[in-house]
Amino acid sequence: MDEHTLIQKYFSDVGSAYLADKGVRISVGDDAAVFSLPADQESIVSIDTSLEGIHFLKSMKPEDIAFRSAAIAISDLAACGATPHWYIVSITIPSFNENWIMSFTKGLQDISDQFKIPLIGGDTTKGPLSITVQVSGYCNINKSISRSNAGNGDLIFVTGVIGDASRSLSLLKKNINESKETVSYLRPSPRISIGQKLLPLASSAIDVSDGLIQDLSHICKSSEVGAHIYLESIPTSLNRTLLSSEINLGDDYELCFTAPEKHTQKINSIAAEEAVLITCIGEVIEGKEVVVLDSSGNEVEVESGYKHF
Ligand code: ADP
Ligand code: MG
Repeated sequence: MDEHTLIQKYFSDVGSAYLADKGVRISVGDDAAVFSLPADQESIVSIDTSLEGIHFLKSMKPEDIAFRSAAIAISDLAACGATPHWYIVSITIPSFNENWIMSFTKGLQDISDQFKIPLIGGDTTKGPLSITVQVSGYCNINKSISRSNAGNGDLIFVTGVIGDASRSLSLLKKNINESKETVSYLRPSPRISIGQKLLPLASSAIDVSDGLIQDLSHICKSSEVGAHIYLESIPTSLNRTLLSSEINLGDDYELCFTAPEKHTQKINSIAAEEAVLITCIGEVIEGKEVVVLDSSGNEVEVESGYKHF
C-alpha cells in the first residue's frame, strides 16, 4: 500500500463526525487544513512528541500508544481551560503493518469520540517509531488560565490522585497487564471539563506530567511565589500517606492549580459534579521555594521529577 492510500484509508475519517461542529472546512487529504474559530475566542495550541521507551513502551497496544500520545497533548489544553478544537498527528513508523495501523487508528478514534474533535491532518514517514501530536483548543479572549498568576495566600489543589500512573508503568515494565491497575498509564484522563469550569476560579494551573512538585515549581517560578505542600494531604489511592519518594514521579496528567480560598466551595462542587477528587494540598506563600512538610511540620526532601536532559 502506498503512503497516500494508507492515509486515505486510515486517517481521513478519524473524528470526521466533528468536523462541521468544530468549524473545519478542509481536512485530511488536501495540502493543508482550513478552519475558523468561534467568534470572540482565541486559539490555544500545544504539541507533544512521544517516543518509544520514554513516553510509551514497545509492548503497549498501538491503540494505547495512539490514545496516550494524543491524551498527553490534550492535557495541556486542560491546564489552560481550553475547549479542544482539532488535532494533527505526525507518525514515523519503522515499517508498514496494516494491523498495527488499524489498532493505532482505533486509539485516535477513541480520542476523537471522547473529546469530540476531528483529526484534521498529519504527516507519515518511515523511521524509528515516534508520534507527534499537535492539539488546538479555544477560550474566550484573555480568559485562559496560565502558570503565572498564582497569588500569595491562594490555596493549591490537585485533581484525582498522585502516583497511580507511575505504579502502572512499573507493572507494565514487568509485563503485568492487569487492566484495572495499568489503565492510568495507558489511558490518561485529560481534565478538560474541570479545566473549563476552573476558568473563572483558578489563578494558575499546570498539568502534572513530570512530577507534582516539579510541575508546581513551574507555577511558582512563573508567578514569583513559593509554596507549602502538606505530604499527608496529597491524594493517593493507597490507604497510607505517600512517601516523599512517591510524590514527584510524573505521568499523572492531573491538574495542579491555585485559587483564592473564597472559591473553595465552588471547587468542591466541581469535584462533586465531575465525580473526580479535588484536594487542597497546600498554600501559596511569599518566596521562591516549594517546601513539602510532614505531619510534624518538618521539611521533607523530595527527589527531582522527570528530566529529559
Ligand atoms: P504533503 O507532502 O503535501 O505534506 P502528505 O502526503 O504529507 O502531503 O499529506 C497528505 C494529506 O494527508 C495532508 O492533508 C496531511 O495532513 C494528511 N496526512 C498525512 N499523514 C497523516 C496522518 N498520519 N494523520 C492524519 N493526516 C495525515
Ligand atoms: Mg506532509
